[in-house]
Amino acid sequence: MIAPPMADAKLDRTLAERLLDGDRRALARAISLVENYRPEGWELVKEVYPHTGQAAVVGFTGPPGVGKSTLIGALTKARREAGRTVGVLSIDPSSPFTQGALLGDRIRLSEHFLDQGVFIRSMANRGALGGLSEAALQAALLLDAAGRQDVFVETVGVGQAEIDIIDHADTIVLVLMPGSGDSIQALKAGVMEIPDVIVINKADHPLTDTMVREIRGVLSLANLDRTPEEVRGHWRVPIVKTEAARGLGVDELVDSLAKHRRHILAAGTLAERRRRNLHNEVLAIATARMRRRLEHDLAQDAEFQRLLEEVVERRLDPASAAASLLAREGAQA
Ligand code: GDP
Repeated sequence: MIAPPMADAKLDRTLAERLLDGDRRALARAISLVENYRPEGWELVKEVYPHTGQAAVVGFTGPPGVGKSTLIGALTKARREAGRTVGVLSIDPSSPFTQGALLGDRIRLSEHFLDQGVFIRSMANRGALGGLSEAALQAALLLDAAGRQDVFVETVGVGQAEIDIIDHADTIVLVLMPGSGDSIQALKAGVMEIPDVIVINKADHPLTDTMVREIRGVLSLANLDRTPEEVRGHWRVPIVKTEAARGLGVDELVDSLAKHRRHILAAGTLAERRRRNLHNEVLAIATARMRRRLEHDLAQDAEFQRLLEEVVERRLDPASAAASLLAREGAQA
């Protein structure tokens, strides 16, 4: 008699189980699923979601070239030395490249590639529908579920898409370098929300202290809008000077991140912030899906084409066209 093939216990375990065990290959596969909009990806997130919420998620934003990757590399080293597992998600909404090309660009993290305690993943552009931030948020949840204690999310630039992603972090770090005046303008104009920690990297530059003074000025202006109660319970945004390339100032950054975490835990703002983030996330996913559905429905819709023609001919204004479209969709729903 031929014996039945031995069941391979490893193969029999589901992707979710392997992911929850921290299996790196399962994690890589899972992120690919969400990145490619595969239904199994969403199912997987659904299954592991109750296990999330453990990771300390730190988002890094700032213009290209200021040294974010170098800094995250240095920070990863410090966290590994402290015995923590790390997941790095590098998001580049402007890049048309796929993972491989982007990773090639992220050589500065390469010293960690062989370390089992570090998982690094890049995600690039996924079309114009805000799909990247949707996939990136799911990927961050997967890293969390896989037991990564520190999750660093890096995004390039200070545009809205980047902020959407970064908004889902517990702590937001803005990385600048001496001379990045545009970012100071963005802070001043209120285009960009005040981050939790500001890093001035490339502190070897002679204009570093000028930059620190300018930022202090912007931060004190931001405080003018607050009530005395808000100022009292408020977190004082530290400005940390680093030289990421030489690992200088990284301990201070680790310290500031830990202090911020203690602050939001003590003040109850972590729970509040997460609630707000999750609220935004649910809305963002719903909005993206509604838009996709609407675009799909309208692609071959004669009535819509007719409305559009009216708008083009200036007989109907865009808002009225949208209103009659919505009225019709509402009637169908
Ligand atoms: P990112 O685009 O913000 O991720 O920036 P990168 O980490 O790729 O760094 C951009 C360049 O700045 C690289 O050539 C780094 O070696 C360099 N760099 C990073 N940190 C420092 C620093 O502290 N001082 C100086 N002078 N250069 C740095």
